[in-house]
Amino acid sequence: MNKRTISGILLLLLASCSPGSDTSDRPVVSVSILPQQYFIERLAGDGVDVNVMIPPGASPATYEPTVSQLSKLDQSQVYMRIGHVGFEKSWMRKISSVNSSMKVIDLSMGIELIHEEEANHLHGHAHGGIDPHVWLSPLNAKIISKNIYNELILLIPGDKEMISARYSELELELDSLHRTISTMLSGLDNRNFMIFHPALSYFARDYDLKQFPLEIGGKSPSPAHMIWMTDLGKEKNISTIFLQKQFDQKNAEALAKEIGAEIVQFNPLDPDWHDQMLYIANKLKTSL
Ligand SMILES: [Zn+2]
Repeated sequence: MNKRTISGILLLLLASCSPGSDTSDRPVVSVSILPQQYFIERLAGDGVDVNVMIPPGASPATYEPTVSQLSKLDQSQVYMRIGHVGFEKSWMRKISSVNSSMKVIDLSMGIELIHEEEANHLHGHAHGGIDPHVWLSPLNAKIISKNIYNELILLIPGDKEMISARYSELELELDSLHRTISTMLSGLDNRNFMIFHPALSYFARDYDLKQFPLEIGGKSPSPAHMIWMTDLGKEKNISTIFLQKQFDQKNAEALAKEIGAEIVQFNPLDPDWHDQMLYIANKLKTSL
């Protein structure tokens, strides 16, 4: 065997066992909810491995991580919290203690947060304090993307050029989405809608709509509250009640029937964030 053949074999061996040749040594970014994965992948492509803690169908208010999820955080370089969901409030300290070298950043940094009292004068909300549903707004999504961008270029500086190009593209797209939705909803006479769990506070703020939640303090409405909501529904001419699969369908359906409104199922945790935003706007436009 000559020298050249040997080095050829060595190269082959190196190529087949080097972790750099596949995707397994990509930096791991952990996040709480699926829509965060949408934004990170829009900017980083497959340059990072996104580890989503809250699985599809689970509630960000109450989800508890599994032991294997916690141990997987070992490999994570950064944890990007969405901000104020119940899961983060309960678990962030534990999550940080699993991996002390993991940097934790808050993607809601820079967003003008809504406090529950403003979101809902009449009733409390399960989460208490700050309304956590910041991602359900194209304007907030611009700030969230900026925060992700700033972190990604530190994490994978070699990809900075590509990430910057994708960031510019995403910004334009978010601006255009915001304009589209503004136009869609601008001419509506009736700007009131009902919702089981008040997930659209930021959306309602952006587009000058009024959200009336059925839930009181994170609990299903009492019979007295149902009567009150029925009167309100008639008075405000409510034609749409937004509902998430995870929540009590019975009361919302009874109310819809009583006031002649349409139930609209939606998914605030849709991994296809962009489509979900358009879907929500479309449902409002056609029903209001
Ligand atoms: Zn919520």
